[in-house]
Amino acid sequence: HAVTRPPPTPSPLRFSKFFQANLRILVTGGAGFIGSHLVDKLMENEKNEVIVVDNYFTGSKDNLRKWIGHPRFELIRHDVTEPLLVEVDQIYHLACPASPIFYKYNPVKTIKTNVIGTLNMLGLAKRVGARILLTSTSEVYGDPLQHPQTEEYWGNVNPIGVRSCYDEGKRVAETLMFDYHRQHGLEIRIARIFNTYGPRMNIDDGRVVSNFIAQAIRGEPLTVQTPGTQTRSFCYVSDMVDGLIRLMESEHTGPINIGNPGEFTMIELAETVKELINPDIPVKMVENTPDDPRQRKPDIAKAKELLGWEPKVILRDGLPLMEEDFRERLAVPKKQIK
Ligand code: NAD
Ligand code: UDP
Ligand code: UDP
Repeated sequence: HAVTRPPPTPSPLRFSKFFQANLRILVTGGAGFIGSHLVDKLMENEKNEVIVVDNYFTGSKDNLRKWIGHPRFELIRHDVTEPLLVEVDQIYHLACPASPIFYKYNPVKTIKTNVIGTLNMLGLAKRVGARILLTSTSEVYGDPLQHPQTEEYWGNVNPIGVRSCYDEGKRVAETLMFDYHRQHGLEIRIARIFNTYGPRMNIDDGRVVSNFIAQAIRGEPLTVQTPGTQTRSFCYVSDMVDGLIRLMESEHTGPINIGNPGEFTMIELAETVKELINPDIPVKMVENTPDDPRQRKPDIAKAKELLGWEPKVILRDGLPLMEEDFRERLAVPKKQIK
């Protein structure tokens, strides 16, 4: 691919006397589910300074509680649809609601976040010479006609449906990333994230894993949306964070799929949650929402080959870790088995 302009010089911070060894990293959406786990991992490295910007739409300060006041950490209330002036070396751009009920709640805002928000972060990356990673999504494949999905597949997306603010928003965000790369020589990275789960997900955010675990703990029926044979592939959050950091540190623009290829129907997922958490609850079939993708599974050959990455945590091991966190937050301790 031709780069029409020479790449920008890296941020002067990298060469400054005071920050010589330090890398200043911006995480947008860092108060959210994946973002806060990413921050935890980045903060483990003493050479990293982390700045989080978040408007707290779906995220919370609570997720970052342990870092507030830390000398290498800074938290800024900011909406990425507004311009942002900071000096950084890397940008992990995650800001965007990820759960369908939240991104459909204010679809115009969702589009603005994806388009104007990404444009602003690219303008920032261009000004300071930072490398920028976008967390795109498997939703760019829409209701896929290719299975499993490779990065070459262009997708099957409804441009005017109720999910389009998210799917098409992320597709434009990817386009913007590549146009800034080709036109301005920016260093870009695009991760296409597949369904991710783990501790700190919003308890009532409507996603299937969080719904089933909360329902199982509360002793309510598991709501499987029809037909129940639709599939998803679930990646544990620590694997996801590892993949994102590897991609950022690699020399590859992507897009690269990051996800766990273990594929389950929603009925299978419900049965697994029942077995592991609460065998006494029934499964209840409920109506689905429009344009729900019928199958989804990542082809991760590229991530394996280019990043040396593959997920380590299988669903049966990840679900109990999430159960523990949900029980604590719902204040429902596990019954001791006699
Ligand atoms: P999340 O909702 O927990 O986190 C998103 C964060 O962005 C929240 O803290 C929210 O307050 C913040 N935010 C939203 N709009 C903003 C705005 N305009 N300005 C500033 N902050 C804003 O979601 P998540 O699951 O952690 O997802 C993180 C990223 O990963 C998103 O970009 C999402 O599209 C992508 N992704 C997630 C999944 C998944 O399964 N979790 C799958 C595919 C892609
Ligand atoms: N931008 C920003 N922070 C910066 C530099 C730019 O938020 O440090 C925003 C800027 O407000 C603009 C967008 O990024 O809306 C794109 O910037 P760019 O310089 O690429 O385009 P231009 O400003 O020339 O339209
Ligand atoms: N789903 C379900 N019960 C629920 C919530 C969701 O059966 O309580 C189904 C939904 O129809 C979809 C799948 O689970 O087929 C994944 O939905 P989710 O909202 O978690 O993620 P996404 O659709 O974005 O992949």
